[in-house]
Amino acid sequence: MNYTGTIYRPPMEAQSLLLQVTTGCSHNKCAFCYMYHDIPFAVSPMEEVLADIDEAARLWPGVERVFLENGDAFCLSAERLKQIAEAIHAKLPKVNTIAMYASIQNIKGKTDEELQMLHELGINDLNIGVESGLDAALERLNKGHTSEEAIYELNRLKKARIEYCLNIILGGAGADLVHENAEASARLINAVQPPILFMGTLHTDPGCSLHRDMKSGAFPECTFGQLLDEQEELISLLELDNTYYFGLHPSNIIPMQGMLPRDKDAMIQAIHEMRDHLKGQLDKYPVRGSEGAILL
Ligand code: SF4
Repeated sequence: MNYTGTIYRPPMEAQSLLLQVTTGCSHNKCAFCYMYHDIPFAVSPMEEVLADIDEAARLWPGVERVFLENGDAFCLSAERLKQIAEAIHAKLPKVNTIAMYASIQNIKGKTDEELQMLHELGINDLNIGVESGLDAALERLNKGHTSEEAIYELNRLKKARIEYCLNIILGGAGADLVHENAEASARLINAVQPPILFMGTLHTDPGCSLHRDMKSGAFPECTFGQLLDEQEELISLLELDNTYYFGLHPSNIIPMQGMLPRDKDAMIQAIHEMRDHLKGQLDKYPVRGSEGAILL
C-alpha cells in the first residue's frame, strides 16, 4: 500500500482499510493544525489508487469498511470519488461504507445530485471539523467557513442521507468568548442534529500560528474552570433528538460518551464532580501531553 507522511484517522476507523487517495490537506491553513505542515497537498495518481485496491483485495478480501486518506479526501471531485468507489466495490465486494475526512468547503463544491450519487455509492460517515458555531472563533481558527455556511451545507448532506461526525473544539474561541462560543456552538449543533458529535479540547503543537498566539498572549487560552463552564453551558443548551456524544479524546478534561438527550443529566453531573475535584486548580491552565492529552 502507498502511504505518504503521517496517516491520520478518526478513532472509529480503527478497523477500516486506510486507502490513500490524496496527501496532505487542500486547506492546510487552520490556525491550530500542524498535521500536514511538511506535506504539500496532492491528489494520488489513479493508477496508484487502483494498485492499492488490488493489493487490499489480495490481503484483506473480506474488508467491509474503507477510510479514504488524507486530511480532507472529500475535496476530490464527485466524478473522481465515483471512480474510486466503483473500483472499491468491484474488487472488495463486502465493502458497505466508504468514509473520509471532509470540510464544509468540500461539501459546498458538490451539487445536491452529486451528493445523492455519492450516497448511493456507499460514501458515508464523513468526519467534519466544524469546530465552533461562533464566527469570531471560526475566523480566529482560520477555518474558511462561517457558521451559517456550515448549517446550510450540513443540512444538504442530511438531505442526501450522508451521515457524519461533527467535530467541535471546546475553548476554540478563547477565554474571552467562553459563553458566546458555548451558545453559538449549541445553536449550530441543534440546527443540524448530527448523528455523532465529537468533542475535543483546543490544543496546539509548536509551529502552528495559534500556538505562537497562545504563547504571546494574543490568543487567551482557557483555564480548567473556563473549559468546564463552556462544556456545561454547551451541553445544557443542546436540544437533540438522537445524537451519540463522543468525548473520549485525550484532550478532554473528562472522558465521557453517551446518547443525547438520554444521558444529558449524567454528563452535567460528571462536570460538577470534576469541578469539585479540581477545586483550587480551576484558574490554572491545563498541562498537555502527547495528542494534547490533559495531564491531571
Ligand atoms: S484541521 Fe483539517 S482542514 Fe484544517 S488544516 Fe488541519 S487537516 Fe486541514
